[in-house]
Amino acid sequence: MEGKRIYLSSPTMHGEEQVFIKEAFDTNWVAPLGPNVNNFEKELAEYVGISHAAALSAGTAAIHLALRILGIGQGDIVFVPSLTFSATCNPIVYENATPVFIDSEEDTWNMSPAALEKAFEKYPDAKAVILVHLYGTCAKLDEIMEICARHQVPLVEDAAESLGSTYKGKYTGTFGKIGIYSFNGNKIITTSGGGMLVAEDEEITKKATFLATQARDPARHYQHSQIGYNYRMSNLVAGVGRGQLLHLEEHKERKKAIRAQYQSAFEDIEEIAMNPLNPDGDDNCWLTCMTIREGCPIIPAQVMDALEKEKIETRPIWKPMHLQPVFEACDFVTKEGFKSGLLAGGQPESVAEDVFQRGLCLPSDIKNTQEDMEKIIGIVRRVFGR
Ligand SMILES: *Cc1c(COP(=O)(O)O)cnc(C)c1O
Repeated sequence: MEGKRIYLSSPTMHGEEQVFIKEAFDTNWVAPLGPNVNNFEKELAEYVGISHAAALSAGTAAIHLALRILGIGQGDIVFVPSLTFSATCNPIVYENATPVFIDSEEDTWNMSPAALEKAFEKYPDAKAVILVHLYGTCAKLDEIMEICARHQVPLVEDAAESLGSTYKGKYTGTFGKIGIYSFNGNKIITTSGGGMLVAEDEEITKKATFLATQARDPARHYQHSQIGYNYRMSNLVAGVGRGQLLHLEEHKERKKAIRAQYQSAFEDIEEIAMNPLNPDGDDNCWLTCMTIREGCPIIPAQVMDALEKEKIETRPIWKPMHLQPVFEACDFVTKEGFKSGLLAGGQPESVAEDVFQRGLCLPSDIKNTQEDMEKIIGIVRRVFGR
């Protein structure tokens, strides 16, 4: 097809979404809440195997409420990976708390347990840890959870990218005191925009729902003794989510097949490595990424340019948060204590910087045809002279 664009990860709709939306229209349960919201919460909680869920307007809102519920406030230190999307750490600042960025480890690209230990040495009074499972790959959960337990600090799991990924047979998002998911347009399933907060403790999800609906005290008149938000998911949006959830397993299988195809197609190119998977997990392979071997004269921008020229969408690796102008004043901790070559204008010295500099995200849209995949693979191979 002339002019067809190949996407990184766009929404894939199936039809059931419209059935649930139609039901909402027919019963006039368009807003605010309604059966789709309750059922989406129940069905998602059942799928990941957790007791309670609260449907919200975004994953970012879910992270914000998680911090509110944990009582994070003015001046509190929160540990968060540097290599992530800004939505993971922005809510820390909403509450006037202070993010301290933690380096990644090479094995999964996620928060390094060794660097987290170092951070606790430096900031023994830290109040919470937010963990991310980047690109769908599970973090080193056993190690991170042990450290959090030893320091008696709650863990918030940002599983926005890893819905459907399991670690030792248990779904990501269900390990922490609070877990969050996102249904943004490019995630493995989407509601066009939305999020979910999950917990074993019902008090937590009840509190989330309360805060998400303007914190109305139980009184006939409108009475408020806390600051609330308008963060609830609408009944229409939840209908899309219910339809999508029916296809989550299928999406995961397709994502894994895309990764497997890239992996075998680039196996003979020693300059290319795929992003890591966690051997203790079954990762959802939300986005397949590649890195270019150190010392290779080809840089990620060349690969991205070659693909973009053919209307194929790519994306750089998330730029580490400690390198962002807005977080300039924040600390960054590596397993050596502190190492940032890029901040000094030199070569990367931390894992997060190294991955950022040498990596890129490949198109991982589950609607890609065999023809699309072969086109992408052919272009990448040619950049490497194959
Ligand atoms: C998408 C994403 C979020 C935010 O989710 P929204 O629903 O877009 O607010 C948070 N963290 C990570 C790691 C994400 O990729």
